[in-house]
Amino acid sequence: MSVLIYAENAGGKFKKSTFEAVSYAKDIADQNNTSLIAISIGDVAAGDLAALGQYGAEKVLNVSNAKLKDFVNQAYASVIAEAAKAQGADIVVLSNSFSGRGLAPRIAVKLQAGLADGVVELPAQDGGKFTVKKTAFSGKAFATVELSSAVKVISLTPNAYKVVPNGTDASVEDFSVENKESDFKAMIKDIVRSTDKVSLPDAEIVVSGGRGLKGPENWGMVEELAELLGAATACSKPVSDAGWRPHSEHVGQTGIAVSPNLYIAIGISGAIQHLAGVSSSKVIVVINKDAEAPFFKVADYGIVGDAFEVLPKLIAAVKEY
Ligand code: FAD
Repeated sequence: MSVLIYAENAGGKFKKSTFEAVSYAKDIADQNNTSLIAISIGDVAAGDLAALGQYGAEKVLNVSNAKLKDFVNQAYASVIAEAAKAQGADIVVLSNSFSGRGLAPRIAVKLQAGLADGVVELPAQDGGKFTVKKTAFSGKAFATVELSSAVKVISLTPNAYKVVPNGTDASVEDFSVENKESDFKAMIKDIVRSTDKVSLPDAEIVVSGGRGLKGPENWGMVEELAELLGAATACSKPVSDAGWRPHSEHVGQTGIAVSPNLYIAIGISGAIQHLAGVSSSKVIVVINKDAEAPFFKVADYGIVGDAFEVLPKLIAAVKEY
């Protein structure tokens, strides 16, 4: 038995959510007194591959193949499933990222495995039962599910697990799989924006604006606060529908699901479809001039006030701090 972790990279660099998933997979391997093997697909520097050992991987399988340079769901799933078979892995872990959400069910089908997606805690493994806590109903609830299959696939919610770098470098070996032509029938490319801004799905802090901000000309305050806090910016659906902000910033049921340590919602009412994508945030701060706004019901901290008065004061206070 072993545990296999898919170490996802973006543009050749491992993401924070990858280190979280490796740390998580290492703790599962320790629970089962077994080893953790990582697999990386794409062009990643040898030093970065070996450094996965610092998060717990004993060995890293490196798949570097021109046909797999860009993300292809089906082809990547085939490679990861074949690696799991070759390594005798009965638990496969990956991040519940944009790519991970597409890969996890495909890998599960190929391995005839049970799947728990969006998990937030280590599994409980008592009396032969394997249960995990995961988000459900677009993050509105948690469910505890039991996986009774021999092979299990688990995807970890970003920001749900601590990163623990304390090991030594891993050994790296090449791994290759002969992909079928059918693996390349549907090619989906990640769209990478050329920006220095913090990536929204991985962000630890998110500053988000809604229709209460009145128009795109007022987003300077949101961006300034985000920059001061090292945060990503986000928005509600009507804001991106109106073209005030790019669609890539739209969070919620039909947008990106985020689970940062801190979510600051400014001029957003807190409709159920918006909450679906943000309610697993650890701390929620709401700024809204309407004390009856539904967002206050799920807020940890709330400021009832006009965003145009509150935000400049907040920015000044953060600058002073
Ligand atoms: P509003 O509802 O107009 O709220 C604006 C808020 O700003 C109000 O609470 C108001 O009190 C406050 N405000 C006004 N002026 C100020 C001020 N000066 N200072 C402070 N506060 C102020 N929405 C999403 O966000 N994400 C989704 O993924 C999503 N998916 C959807 C899917 C479906 C199928 C449907 C039907 C809807 C979906 N929606 C989604 C839309 C959702 O129902 C809401 O309409 C939307 O979230 C409201 O956006 P808002 O809060 O920015 O705007």
